[in-house]
Amino acid sequence: ETQKETLGFQTEVKQLLNLMIHSLYSNKEIFLRELISNASDAAEKLRFKALSNGELYENDGDLKITVSFDAEAKTVTIEDNGLGMNRSEVIEHLGTIAKSGTASFLGQLTGDQSKDNQLIGQFGVGFYSAFIVAKQVDVFTRAAGAPVSEGVLWSSEGEGEFSIETLDKATRGTQIVLHLKDGEEEFADGSRLRTLVRKYSDHIAMPVMMLKEAPLGQEESEEDLAEGEEAKAPKEVAAPELETVNSATALWTLNKGDISEEEYNEFYKHISHDFGNPLTVAHNRVEGNLEYTSLLYVPETAPYDLWNRDAPRGLKLYIQRVFVMDQADSFLPLYLRFIKGVVDSNNLSLNVSREILQKDPNVDKLRTALTKRVLDMLTKLAKNEPEKYVTFWKAFGSVIKEGPAEDYTNREKIMKLLRFASTHTNSDAPTTSLEDYISRMKEGQTKIYYVVAENYNTAKNSPHLEIFRKKGIEVLLMTERVDEWMMSHLFDFEGKTLQNVTKGELELGETETEEDKKAQEEAVKEAAGLVERLKERLKEKVSDVRVTHRLTDSPACLVLNAYDMGAQMRQIMEAAGQ
Ligand code: ADP
Ligand code: MG
Repeated sequence: ETQKETLGFQTEVKQLLNLMIHSLYSNKEIFLRELISNASDAAEKLRFKALSNGELYENDGDLKITVSFDAEAKTVTIEDNGLGMNRSEVIEHLGTIAKSGTASFLGQLTGDQSKDNQLIGQFGVGFYSAFIVAKQVDVFTRAAGAPVSEGVLWSSEGEGEFSIETLDKATRGTQIVLHLKDGEEEFADGSRLRTLVRKYSDHIAMPVMMLKEAPLGQEESEEDLAEGEEAKAPKEVAAPELETVNSATALWTLNKGDISEEEYNEFYKHISHDFGNPLTVAHNRVEGNLEYTSLLYVPETAPYDLWNRDAPRGLKLYIQRVFVMDQADSFLPLYLRFIKGVVDSNNLSLNVSREILQKDPNVDKLRTALTKRVLDMLTKLAKNEPEKYVTFWKAFGSVIKEGPAEDYTNREKIMKLLRFASTHTNSDAPTTSLEDYISRMKEGQTKIYYVVAENYNTAKNSPHLEIFRKKGIEVLLMTERVDEWMMSHLFDFEGKTLQNVTKGELELGETETEEDKKAQEEAVKEAAGLVERLKERLKEKVSDVRVTHRLTDSPACLVLNAYDMGAQMRQIMEAAGQ
């Protein structure tokens, strides 16, 4: 095992490396954030593990990250004393991409730089971003608690392969040495690195240390040398002092008023793997019986794997400031799976596991509270920043539509968040809310009318709409796959029945005049013979033939019985082989 072996990257890694280096070049400085983020994760994981096994600290419980550089050798080094990795973990984590849906993500890449850039940002490149600026990366690592002889050196030029060998490593944790590409020497510079650490990693919980910058002209520390104290070993005389360059306090523990938008944004990038800024954030501290702090973000764009049921989701869970787990998915319902953030609770025991979480009644309480927080945040966004809400709805509207069926308690609140295209706006943009609809209802109108169709044009041109147009009654146009399913769970909103215009008898209520009714009765009498003949001809194919008043231009249309499955639902069922 000690001998050096050379292994090939998983195919997906090779593809990603290639694309990433080109697409992210204009964003190259993010490599530092990614590597510090990993170092911080590793330190936080160790702290959690050490709660049950203090030996892992190896007598050094002072968790930190160190960034250093060598301008002559053109290297930048990021070091942590976190959990570290053993040989097989190194091969797994730094040679493959374990994420589900990787292949489909890669398939979506187009070669168009700006589009790909965004996709890659959503996918998250993590460790591999080191190769944007480095022609060679060396990773020295040793798992906490493992013998000194079980250190590992992973090294690669980011082409197709990496080498791996076992060697002695005295300290636990991971040291990553970047050998900068020609032209990237600018990063081997103290003030540049300091600026980047402060910009991108200010409010991670771990201190990021760098050598104190010697004031100009005193680099050699002449005074110390002149004094020549015998007791001090020469090495110690020159021993440079480290200082913490970031704030090193977890962002959510600060007061809202002390946090800038920029700081919220950078913290979002640290926890979300997203390169873009969030759309909005809610930060709350709650005291009393249930004590928690939550920092919840709505992303601006949907992740590439939003529809993958196994995709990781959930909040980062901290208990009394200690990181416990990523993707804790017990704290929000599935229809809010796009929310990123942190929950830090004082009501849970640090001994939790995913299994225990599922049974702890405090988790249910937190879930109820956090769900409400998110719905309030979205309600506020819709009210105060309608343009942003449009962006939100485009990205996540179809996920929210799972909500009314999944979360009965919050049904009204969720329904207020829904947006549809409508005959009123005459555009396919989903901007009409149920409340908007009600505010425009005709005198005497008691129902909210809607039509479900495969696409906007079919919906808009549906013959079922003719009578509504004639009467000037608005109809909501639903064209998404989930619409019919969602509507099958919804019966009314604020006391108004939701009525599919293709189903059952239409009672247009008091919008019909006496004259209308008389004319209709006349028409029924006149057509009696025709109706009989049609019934005879079509008897195998239809359950009834009726004279209709809903059409003004078209001669006939098909109507479903009130409790029949809708056309769209039928197609979904048929496609599923039922
Ligand atoms: P992510 O951080 O999203 O998991 P990365 O590509 O950034 O993805 O890192 C891949 C994995 O490599 C991490 O999940 C972790 O297991 C491992 N890793 C990376 N850096 C370190 C480190 N400094 N210490 C320990 N493990 C690390
Ligand atoms: Mg990472």
